[in-house]
Amino acid sequence: MFYSKEKIKMGIPVNTPLFGGNEEKYILECIRTGWISSEGPYVKEFEKEFAGYVDRKEGIAVANGSAALDIAVAALKIGYGDEVIMPAFTIISPALSVVRAGAVPVLVDSDPITWNMDVTQIESKITAKTKAILVVHIYGLPVDMDPVLTLCKKKNLFLIEDAAELIGQTYKGKKCGSFGDISIFSFYPNKHITTGEGGMCVTNDTALAERCRKLRNLAFEPDKPRFVHYELGWNYRMTNLQAALGLAQLEKINDHITRKREIGRAYQVALRNVGGYQLPLARTEYAENIYWVFGLVADTQERCENTIKKLNTAGIGTRPFFWCMHEQPVFQNMGLFKNEHYPVAQKLARNGFYVPSGLGLTLEEIDLVCKTFIA
Ligand SMILES: *Cc1c(COP(=O)(O)O)cnc(C)c1O
Repeated sequence: MFYSKEKIKMGIPVNTPLFGGNEEKYILECIRTGWISSEGPYVKEFEKEFAGYVDRKEGIAVANGSAALDIAVAALKIGYGDEVIMPAFTIISPALSVVRAGAVPVLVDSDPITWNMDVTQIESKITAKTKAILVVHIYGLPVDMDPVLTLCKKKNLFLIEDAAELIGQTYKGKKCGSFGDISIFSFYPNKHITTGEGGMCVTNDTALAERCRKLRNLAFEPDKPRFVHYELGWNYRMTNLQAALGLAQLEKINDHITRKREIGRAYQVALRNVGGYQLPLARTEYAENIYWVFGLVADTQERCENTIKKLNTAGIGTRPFFWCMHEQPVFQNMGLFKNEHYPVAQKLARNGFYVPSGLGLTLEEIDLVCKTFIA
C-alpha cells in the first residue's frame, strides 16, 4: 500500500524495498500459529542469525535503531556528567540517546572525502569526563576504525558503533558492527534488510547482553519478584512478525549488497562527468563503498537546491543530507554547542543530497534519474 501510494505521488521514490524471498511464508506462519508478539520463536532465531552474520555472540532485537541506541547508552551506564564523542554530521538518533541520558555529546567535524567523522580530531576532544566514543558509519564507507580502537584502549573508553547504514559492510575485512562494546543496527525500510521498523544491539559480552535484554523489557528483573523494578527501562521489544520479515530478508542479504553496489556503480558511471559535484568515493584502502545511499555534494548550495527542484519536478525523489547536530534548534535551545563550528559538516549538510537507490530500483529508473540530472 505504502509502496504503490508513493509510486503514484513520485515517479521514482527515493526508496523502494524488495521482498524477494520467504517474507510472505514466514509472516503467514506467525499468523497461522498465533505467535505475533515478542514471545514468538522468530525473535530469538533472527537475533542468533543476525548476530552471527556480523560476527557477534549476542543479538538483542528491539523496536527500532534509535531504541537500540537508547539501550546501548543506558546499558553502558552513561549518564549525568559524562561526555560522549560523536560526529557533528549524523542522523539525530545517537545525539538524542546521549542527551536523554543526561550526558553531553562532544562533536567532531567530518572528513571531506569519506563524509565520516574525522578520527584525527577525536583525541583533542577527550577530557576526564569522556566515557565513550560513538562512531556512526555514514552513507556507504566505514569510519576509519583502527585509530578509534587504539584511542578507546589507551584512554579506557567505551565504543558504541552505529552501523545502521552499513549492514554487511566490512572494515579491513571485518564486519561493521563487530567493533563496538555495543554496536547497533536499524531495519527501517531503507536499510539493507528491513523489518518495517526494527533494530538490534549486538555485543560479545554476555553480561552486557543481559542488561540490554532487561532494559528492552521495562527493566523487569530476571531473578527478582515480577513487577518490582530497580531501573528505568523501556518497552522496546521487537515482535515475532517483524523478526519473521527480518529473517527472510537476512537470507537475501548477499543479493541485497550486490544490488546496492550495482546501483552505486551505475550512478558512478552515468554521473562521472557531471560538473560541480563531488561523487561518493568508490573505495578507500580499508573498504569498498556499499552505497547505502548515493550521495552527491554540490560545489554551491544554490546548485544543490536547483538540482533537487529539477529532479522533484520530474517526479524523482531525493533527500537532503543530514543536518548538523550543533545546528539543531532542539539542542541550541537547550544551550548545547554554543559558538561551535564544524565547517566540513556544515557544507555537507547544505550542499549534499541523495538520489533514489532502493533495492527495488530498476536500471531504467537509474537511467531516467541520470538523464534528468544531466539535462
Ligand atoms: C536509520 C538510522 C538510525 C535510526 O534507526 P531507526 O530504526 O529509524 O530508529 C540510527 N542511526 C543511523 C546512522 C541511521 O541511518
